Amino acid sequence: DPDGAGSGGEEPTAPGTVHLVGSGPGDPDLMTVKAARLIESADVVLHDKLPGPEILGEIPEEKREDVGKRAGGEWTPQEYTNRRLVELAREGKSVVRLKGGDPFVFGRGGEEAEHLADAGIPFEVVPGVTSAIAGPAVAGIPVTHRDHASSVSFVTGHEDPTKAESAVDWDALAATGGTVVVLMGVGKLPAYTAELRDAGLAGDTPVALVERATWPEMRVATGTLDTIVDVRDEAGIEPPAITVIGDVAATRGRVVEFLRNADGRGEET
Ligand code: SAH
Repeated sequence: DPDGAGSGGEEPTAPGTVHLVGSGPGDPDLMTVKAARLIESADVVLHDKLPGPEILGEIPEEKREDVGKRAGGEWTPQEYTNRRLVELAREGKSVVRLKGGDPFVFGRGGEEAEHLADAGIPFEVVPGVTSAIAGPAVAGIPVTHRDHASSVSFVTGHEDPTKAESAVDWDALAATGGTVVVLMGVGKLPAYTAELRDAGLAGDTPVALVERATWPEMRVATGTLDTIVDVRDEAGIEPPAITVIGDVAATRGRVVEFLRNADGRGEET
């Protein structure tokens, strides 16, 4: 029992603060100044793999705790992470809970905030540059565009869209006419592209996959609603990747020749 709670007679330690910090999409230069400062001063940094090797590699081994996938390929249960955050804070530690992108975009940051509040632990949210916007951006794709998209939806591709109680209404998304950005959407790409087509979205709607956006080995693959599954398979696109669906995805083709902001990162497939 590392926290030694219950040993009588000691001054109760004031709980440390937990910082729910977004690390951005992976390029260390896209981390906020505040995130960098908090990582520097933290006693412990709880993280998974999503912040990426460049950012994690800069954090001293002795203050890192990996709460992502374990050796056997199993995810660390969320209850363990919740418990560990509270435990460390009650030891008076300054804790950074580091999450890829923004902590409140599909990062379970909301659940952790609720758990901390229930436990009476002070916490702070440090927003990050989400891959949902930055991924398309560094590939030359604006998620909105005056001529092409007046709205953008961020959705999870993780769940099975054919299951009866699907939380994502693909029909409604198709009807918006706006951009659809899918996170965690590599595996189920065939299912939700079919859903969108069935919902009336044209087969030639442009689609782009941005794999490891802003990482040194970033790759971009482009196609249409009809072709993108084959494109994915031929290129061997794997998570983490962002799927961008909508007319804005064609912008890449018009600007890519002059697109330099990836800074040598990235390769056309
Ligand atoms: N909180 C994160 C999202 C966590 S969900 C954020 O705001 O970015 C995990 C999903 O995020 C991945 O499956 C992938 O779809 C996306 N993702 C995160 N980082 C990425 C990156 N560098 N490149 C492409 N996709 C990324």
